[in-house]
Amino acid sequence: MSMYGIDPEETADALDNAAHWDAAQLMRKMAKEITDLEARLAKATQPSADDKWATIHRLVSWLDQQNGRKQEEIGLRILKLAEEQGEVAQAWIGYTGQNPRKGTTHTLDQVAEELVDVIVTAAVALTSITDKPDVFLDAKLKKIAERVNA
Ligand SMILES: [Mg+2]
Repeated sequence: MSMYGIDPEETADALDNAAHWDAAQLMRKMAKEITDLEARLAKATQPSADDKWATIHRLVSWLDQQNGRKQEEIGLRILKLAEEQGEVAQAWIGYTGQNPRKGTTHTLDQVAEELVDVIVTAAVALTSITDKPDVFLDAKLKKIAERVNA
C-alpha cells in the first residue's frame, strides 16, 4: 500500500486477472515510480537543522517538567557533559584495545554514538541557558571557521 492509499501491485494483479496485461504492466511501472518517489520524499523530509533544534527544545521542556530548571539543575546538565565525555573516552579506549586485559570492546560506531551523546548533552545544556542556542552555535562555528579559513 502506498502512502496515497493505493496498492499498485494489487491493482496490477487485478488487471492481469482481467486480461488487461498492458494496463497491468503500466500499473507495475507506476508502482516502481511511486516507490522511488516515496523514497525521494522520505529523504527530502529528513530533519533539517531547525528540526534538530526543535527536538532539543522539546527535550529541554521535558527535562524542565521533570526536574525544573533552577541553577542546581542547570549545573547538573552541564556536569552531565563530563559523564558523556568519560563514556567517549571509555569507548575509544575499548575501540583501540589499549587495555590488554579487556582487549577490543567497542566499535567505531559505538565511539560515534558516544560523541553524539556529547553533542546532544551540550545542546541540551546550552538550550537550558539560552532560548537561542542556534545563534550561539552558528556564531561560534563561523568564528572558528574564519580562524582557520575553513
Ligand atoms: Mg553516552
